[in-house]
Amino acid sequence: MIVNPNEIPITDNHIHVDPFNGEGPVKVAKLFYNSGGRVMMIPNKPSWTFNKPFKFNEAMDLTISYVNKINQNTHVKAFAIVGVHPAEFSKLIENGKSYDEAYELVKNSLNYGKKLVEDKKAVAIGEVGRPHYEVSSDELKYQNKILKYALRLAKDVDCAVQLHTETANESQFKEFASFADEVRFKKNKLIKHFSGPFITYKENFGIVPSVMASKKNIEIAISKGRNFLMETDYLDDLSRPGAVLGPKTVPKRTLNFIEKGIFTEEDAFKIHKDNIQAIYEIDL
Ligand SMILES: [Zn+2]
Repeated sequence: MIVNPNEIPITDNHIHVDPFNGEGPVKVAKLFYNSGGRVMMIPNKPSWTFNKPFKFNEAMDLTISYVNKINQNTHVKAFAIVGVHPAEFSKLIENGKSYDEAYELVKNSLNYGKKLVEDKKAVAIGEVGRPHYEVSSDELKYQNKILKYALRLAKDVDCAVQLHTETANESQFKEFASFADEVRFKKNKLIKHFSGPFITYKENFGIVPSVMASKKNIEIAISKGRNFLMETDYLDDLSRPGAVLGPKTVPKRTLNFIEKGIFTEEDAFKIHKDNIQAIYEIDL
């Protein structure tokens, strides 16, 4: 077991748990804890991962049950993030729904997600946004509409949003910032999940980058500032090992960087505690 001597609330800002295809919530949380991790922000997985296509609300409910299991059975603090993955919309269209029908279905579930945040069962809306693969311009229009709809809901309840999008550089960040401005959503609560080290305002336009915790990314990130979060996007899917970073990566990287002097302890507290508390309005 790796120790975290000063109990820095080391947070993986985007980590999945999946008892259907992987090791499930308690096992993943224990691995995370034993590597020095303390806080997991857990977005729901898409409905096809538990073989109930388009049961979006159930995907959210399942994730809340996983979070409860982790909080009851481990020392990790877990929080749920609920949304409808943009690929779900593509699949609705593939299955013969019209754009408008699909839009209504996704909107209804996002409304449900908003209610879960209001009821304090979840802390944020996500992952929402647009697909990482190319789509038709018609579909893109609807995906953007959904994205803005989610921002409006989040604005109503004053919660954060985690965006899943295509690979983003400055021009995408600028576009997402303009969406936030359009609906007057606070950009310091808008998180780009699966981000590169876009740390300065000139790079991210005020959106919060949740940086993939590879060595190189985090070295670049910390050389530019501390306004970022760290994540793995771990899928907990045994059929896709190594698809993303493993569940121990964020705590290992953080503790190793402190040891090497790349992070000060203060940096680590800022990234893992202050930033997380401010964005999600939670106490760690
Ligand atoms: Zn994800």
